[in-house]
Amino acid sequence: MVVGLTGGIGSGKSTVLKEFESLGIPVYIADVEAKIIMNTSLEVQSKIIALLGKQAYHNHQLNRAYIANKVFNNKDLLTQLNAIVHPAVHQHFKKFVALQTAHYLVYENAILFENKSEELCNKVIVVTASKENRISRVMLRDHIDREAVLARMKNQWSQEDKIAKADFIIKNDDVLLLKEQILKIHEQLMEINL
Ligand code: ATP
Repeated sequence: MVVGLTGGIGSGKSTVLKEFESLGIPVYIADVEAKIIMNTSLEVQSKIIALLGKQAYHNHQLNRAYIANKVFNNKDLLTQLNAIVHPAVHQHFKKFVALQTAHYLVYENAILFENKSEELCNKVIVVTASKENRISRVMLRDHIDREAVLARMKNQWSQEDKIAKADFIIKNDDVLLLKEQILKIHEQLMEINL
């Protein structure tokens, strides 16, 4: 069973994921795997170079600053880049799933709904936190200002829209209540037989 994990920037997805890992649950972090695939798949590399130019790679390593700059204000290019990367990640993920023996695994993707990856999931968990908490956490973590956090938030679905599509919700405003919520969801997931 594939359990998607998503939530807005700074909601605490990575924090929640660590708890699932400590329960022995396999996890797949879409963003991390996407970067590895962009650096290692020759097919993906050649498609990205065809789209964005040779400078997209430097010594066979992704030139992230160049790519970010290219697609930042160009929705069309971003869509085309996603159309290269997402199918490759989905394919890799399906192979990963086929190798698992655990009752369920967690698939973390910050833009699970935005890129329709919920189609890969049997259940979806949404991590939530108040906007102010999310902003101040990301400012502290990434050493950026409020405007920069808000700019990143603008590219994501609203928390309300995500909640509407969730099977489970984890409220991460008070860290003391986090483990308890995760354990409860874990127990429920262990009871589900698809
Ligand atoms: P992003 O989408 O930006 O990757 P995320 O949803 O994975 O973010 P985390 O990295 O888990 O969020 O959390 C953001 C920051 O807030 C981290 O520095 C984390 O340690 C901190 N944090 C997470 N949960 C709490 C909490 N309940 N109380 C205080 N700080 C928290």
